[in-house]
Amino acid sequence: SRKKIIAGNWKMNMTPTEAVELVNTLKPLVANDEVDVVFCVPAIDIIPAMEAAKGSNINIGAENMYYEDKGAYTGEISPAMLKDAGVKYVVIGHSERREYFAETDETVNKKALKAFEYGITPIICCGESLTQREQGITIDWIRQQIKIAFLNIPAENAAKAVIAYEPIWAIGTGKVATTQQAQEVCQSIRSCIAEIYDEATAQAIRIQYGGSVSAGSAPELFAQPDIDGGLVGGASLKPEFGDIVNYKK
Ligand code: 13P
Repeated sequence: SRKKIIAGNWKMNMTPTEAVELVNTLKPLVANDEVDVVFCVPAIDIIPAMEAAKGSNINIGAENMYYEDKGAYTGEISPAMLKDAGVKYVVIGHSERREYFAETDETVNKKALKAFEYGITPIICCGESLTQREQGITIDWIRQQIKIAFLNIPAENAAKAVIAYEPIWAIGTGKVATTQQAQEVCQSIRSCIAEIYDEATAQAIRIQYGGSVSAGSAPELFAQPDIDGGLVGGASLKPEFGDIVNYKK
């Protein structure tokens, strides 16, 4: 069975000094080897956070990266830089990147391909807007996002990927999707992977739910057959993240 993966997405929060403090605060609270624990942090926090996390079960991830190897791309962070720093996971195509930084399904695909080339596991984000949900096109939309994101990615890599299903209307709103809504979409993502690849790949890939996950909602969400953990924003900056990681206890 799949190991749960519970990741924090710090977004644009925490200076390097604050990052070290937060890692030190959370380190004892998130000690749990039964799940993979990842802190996806701003690029400037990666190295100090990595230092602070040394010897613990915390994996440090990135929130974004560029899809070229190197060169004249002012302001961007390359996959080689992340790899050299020891980063194992990178969030790709978060809805905030799509909304404010013009990311598309195509750039998500390029970034995912590049991440695998460097041995970094992409956490590939997808999710529908409230309008799309109300129009009844959620599943079609998500399937399209997934199909494009995984173009040209071979099955052996796809099996190692993480997908984060984050309904946009549930992000930062305190309006968590119902367990049924989250499970329904995560299940359809898994079927989509089975169609693109095969059943073995679909059973191996890990699918997270994200959007207002809290210590209160985590246990029921993470107990669903197709939800393999969460991508947590606001609550990952607080001691509450320890309760989310230890949702079983
Ligand atoms: P919140 O948990 O703050 O709703 O954020 C979710 C998210 O966007 C994680 O990537």
